[in-house]
Amino acid sequence: MVGRTREWVIKQLHFAEFSSHRDVVRKAVWVGLKLSLLAYCINLGAHFLLYGLDLLPYALSSALVIATVLTPPITFILSTVAYVAVGLAIHDLGVSRAELERLSHTDMLSGLMNRRALLAAFDQCDQEKSMLVFDIDHFKAVNDTYGHLVGDEVIAKVAAMLKSIFGDRCVCARIGGEEFAIFSSRLSFAEFVTLSEIARGRIAAARFYVGDKAIAITVSGGIAKALPEQKFGETFSRADQALYTAKSGGRDRIVLSHGQPDQSQLKSDAA
Ligand code: GH3
Ligand code: MG
Ligand code: MG
Repeated sequence: MVGRTREWVIKQLHFAEFSSHRDVVRKAVWVGLKLSLLAYCINLGAHFLLYGLDLLPYALSSALVIATVLTPPITFILSTVAYVAVGLAIHDLGVSRAELERLSHTDMLSGLMNRRALLAAFDQCDQEKSMLVFDIDHFKAVNDTYGHLVGDEVIAKVAAMLKSIFGDRCVCARIGGEEFAIFSSRLSFAEFVTLSEIARGRIAAARFYVGDKAIAITVSGGIAKALPEQKFGETFSRADQALYTAKSGGRDRIVLSHGQPDQSQLKSDAA
């Protein structure tokens, strides 16, 4: 009984029945009406049974009047109040749970997904995907020159730019200090590479203002393609290797991992 009630309560957390106070009250009234009807029927049945067995100690007509006047309203009030109390508690727990879930996959500084959420989203997607890993160049110098708080602001602004450039067809995450990963199964590889290059160019052209000082930064990136069955770890390590090549090649550039199509859309060394 306890186990079943527990299962029921947990199940309710996933349903819309307790998603707002109004839903709780509506459901409580509905349950109250059903329980009142049930209690009234049981009461009437019991009286008719006792009457049939000649065990009713008072007149049937009086019994029916009292049963009709008392049972439905009392049952309705008690069950509705109890249901509202439990329903509101479940609603509050559901809200806290949803908030905790949101926090558990959000990076607080940038508002993007965190690494764990990206990994889960990547591995759940069973289609061909493209992945980009972006790392801000010489970010330690930004911190050293302007301070950690300014560094944080730059990270948040870069995150906002990535979110707006890559849009809804890509999943963006901050996966480490000044490192971001983006993947998409909805863009073709060529579209994804083009968008990545646009993002790199816009970040390089942007100025991040601290007081009257304009900070310029660049990012380096590595891109890898993943077949449907290829998991995050394997794809990420290829993209990361390409990122390493971009760093050692002079930074402010994107490199495709080995075995990918030509890199003609990307900025060349001469650029
Ligand atoms: P590279 O071009 O090779 O990537 O050089 P880099 O200076 O960006 O790389 P490095 O790994 O040497 O330094 C990364 C710096 O990022 C060091 C660390 O203090 C800073 N960092 C990491 N997380 C945060 C953060 O959350 N906020 C701020 N402000 N800085 C951070
Ligand atoms: Mg860096
Ligand atoms: Mg880094």
